[in-house]
Amino acid sequence: MCSAMVLLCIFVAVLCQVCALPLKNSTEPNEVKMRMKRKYSDEIENWDEITAMDQILIVNSRLRAPRGVTFRDGDIASSYPRSAITCPGNACLWPKSVDGFVYVPYIMSPLYDDMDRITIETGMQDISAGTCVKFVPRTQQGSFLDIQPRYGCWSFLGQTGGSQTLSLQTPGCMWSGVAAHEFMHALGFVHEQSRSDRDHYVTIVWKNIMPDQTHNFRKQATNNLHSPYDYNSVMHYGRYAFSEDGGPTIIPKPDPYIPIGQRDGPSALDLHKINVNLELANDV
Ligand SMILES: [Zn+2]
Repeated sequence: MCSAMVLLCIFVAVLCQVCALPLKNSTEPNEVKMRMKRKYSDEIENWDEITAMDQILIVNSRLRAPRGVTFRDGDIASSYPRSAITCPGNACLWPKSVDGFVYVPYIMSPLYDDMDRITIETGMQDISAGTCVKFVPRTQQGSFLDIQPRYGCWSFLGQTGGSQTLSLQTPGCMWSGVAAHEFMHALGFVHEQSRSDRDHYVTIVWKNIMPDQTHNFRKQATNNLHSPYDYNSVMHYGRYAFSEDGGPTIIPKPDPYIPIGQRDGPSALDLHKINVNLELANDV
């Protein structure tokens, strides 16, 4: 039921996105060269280009894992001994209700102010408006998101069972695109450039990555859901993620000027993938 409702929206949205992809950047070569040399994080020169993941990495730069938790890929939490980053057998998907929707219950910390709550709820709505996911305040459900302003922006991957923390620090993580990014982790999605087929679409510049951070660029055994690689995904790392000296760590191919990542919220393809993924979810 829900699938039929969103199919048309998704089709139109994907069409619009494809139409709006004159991916060749018109920037002059010298300007590009200068940007390629810019410093990552606190020396980013053009703040218009900062992606959701850039902001997350800035906030999380001094993140220390709470007891019993480790972090992978900058912002994905896992509990000992559950260290798998993938979701084998779709075991981490939230269950699908008989009406076709997937309800994700949540509670939100009273420490947030009104503006914080609006930002976080916008992140939820940007997902639910184009998908069969509905974020609902928890009543009696046993499994739910516990959204808290802990240190950093991070989430567990998929449904872990019981109460699961999703941290959105204020004010650092108070961007709706950052919130949507973390909610997509909670729905079971890893970063776009972690896809098993990413080497067809991007070059990872290993020599530019901080030596102790190369583990954040591992490929994962992802189910790519027959979806195209999405440079515009809100789950994509920025071009300079984990850069050692300001050089790019990810270069799209064959066209290196294709913009990667953004901060506005889930792309049309992100929404499409969420819906396709939900088809795999178990019925309640
Ligand atoms: Zn992330």
